[in-house]
Amino acid sequence: MMKTGVSKRWASGMAIAALLLAAASGLSGCATRSSLLRTIPEHRRRNPEKMELLVTGYCPCGKCTGWRRNWLLIPVYTSGPLIGQRKRVGMTSSGTLAQPGTIAADTRLFPYGTVMYVPGYGYGRVEDTGGKIVGRHIDVFFRRHSQAEAWGRRKEMVTVWRPD
Ligand SMILES: [Zn+2]
Repeated sequence: MMKTGVSKRWASGMAIAALLLAAASGLSGCATRSSLLRTIPEHRRRNPEKMELLVTGYCPCGKCTGWRRNWLLIPVYTSGPLIGQRKRVGMTSSGTLAQPGTIAADTRLFPYGTVMYVPGYGYGRVEDTGGKIVGRHIDVFFRRHSQAEAWGRRKEMVTVWRPD
């Protein structure tokens, strides 16, 4: 009798833990296809483009995003057009918080809000730019530098949904 009661309580505890975990992963922004495509107009949603792009990986570290801390430990850009200016660590050029699914692209080619599916990476959205990200080259976000390095440089057939 006792045992059943305990295991029941344990089971409901686990169910709550699972729910919390699901909520937390939703907040951390694991981008899903349907949530991303909601912002894409119907005619684009039905007719995505497919193109081969060079795909590299990046993380929020200074090595990947061109900033370093100065002697006051304030992060500043060390290269590019914003050289010497303060860097908001983890923020994208569009002002959103970088997270898995954040893609940096040449916004003359792929405007902010473009949704992409990258084989081996998943769904993401263009929310960032990079000094070296020009033309048919995108940079996909990873939380850790080791993950970005492990991704390396790949040519992938990317599915592209434009926001216009
Ligand atoms: Zn890095």
